[in-house]
Amino acid sequence: MVELIIDPGHGGKDPGGGSNQYWKEKDMVLDISLYQYKRFKELGVPVALTRDKDVYLSPSERTRIVRNSGAKHSISNHINAGGGDGVETIHSIFADDELARQLALEITKEGQNLRRVFSRTLPYNSKKDYYYMHRDTGSVNTTIIEYGFADSKKDDVQQLLKHWKDYAEAVIRAYCNFIGHNYTLPKQGVQKLADSPIEKVWKVVKVVSDKYGIYGRPVEGWKEESEKYLNWTFVVRNQQVVKGKLWYELTLNGKVYGWIAAHQTEERSFRWAYVKEDTKGFLHSDLKTVFGAVEKGSKIAILDESDDKFLIVHRNQPQWVQKKIVEF
Ligand SMILES: [Zn+2]
Repeated sequence: MVELIIDPGHGGKDPGGGSNQYWKEKDMVLDISLYQYKRFKELGVPVALTRDKDVYLSPSERTRIVRNSGAKHSISNHINAGGGDGVETIHSIFADDELARQLALEITKEGQNLRRVFSRTLPYNSKKDYYYMHRDTGSVNTTIIEYGFADSKKDDVQQLLKHWKDYAEAVIRAYCNFIGHNYTLPKQGVQKLADSPIEKVWKVVKVVSDKYGIYGRPVEGWKEESEKYLNWTFVVRNQQVVKGKLWYELTLNGKVYGWIAAHQTEERSFRWAYVKEDTKGFLHSDLKTVFGAVEKGSKIAILDESDDKFLIVHRNQPQWVQKKIVEF
């Protein structure tokens, strides 16, 4: 018996609609799935695949493999099409949205934006799931993941080319967390985080209005007056559109502060630079307390400066470093 069965969508004569000039959906989702399969094995999660090569599976063959696997969960990997942007996860109408939500949120932590978490019924039968991967997979709880859009007019194409593996890894993290299985980073992943953290810095904002507060969740949850954070600089960790309004999740010095309406902030510009020698970063708030290490060769974003220090973003954290170790 396996815990999880991973389903790379499409295959063989069916390339999948989420294809473009750079990839075929069937290939990208196979890459994602084989990576996840290998990682789950490493982590000791009993796992299976519906296909491990470029073969066509009819809907009935595919769902039979899933049903017969005896798995608790199935993750069906897809790339979207239709001109949208961002990750979508789809759960059965008979399942709650918890796993689907956690999977999507973890992917947004890698820089992808959230489009939606949803379920869908047949147009003529509201008691049946729309997708056969939900309808015909029996008691296996199936989540369809659409990692992004192959025909996005925004940044999905570049993001998927560059970060598909990070998104695949995010799914592993979220799933382990969901089932309470111990998660450890891939060996390469640790290295990668130190090498090119900057790729994940995608928005730095200053709080410019204290009219509304900072919330535990967009529009709801606990609320704190944003007055004391006026003019503070944060890194945006996640963003989400709620009721037509954009919200940012703010983080600083390793702490998550909460959500603020985007219109209360101003995006800060920055320029890229490199670090010439190993050094220390100092706390954003006092310029004195050591915050962490900044390694030689790190690519950093420069936001501001004092007499002898630059305010930079490194590993998604604003901090101060000595000017002399920076090279443009
Ligand atoms: Zn697909």
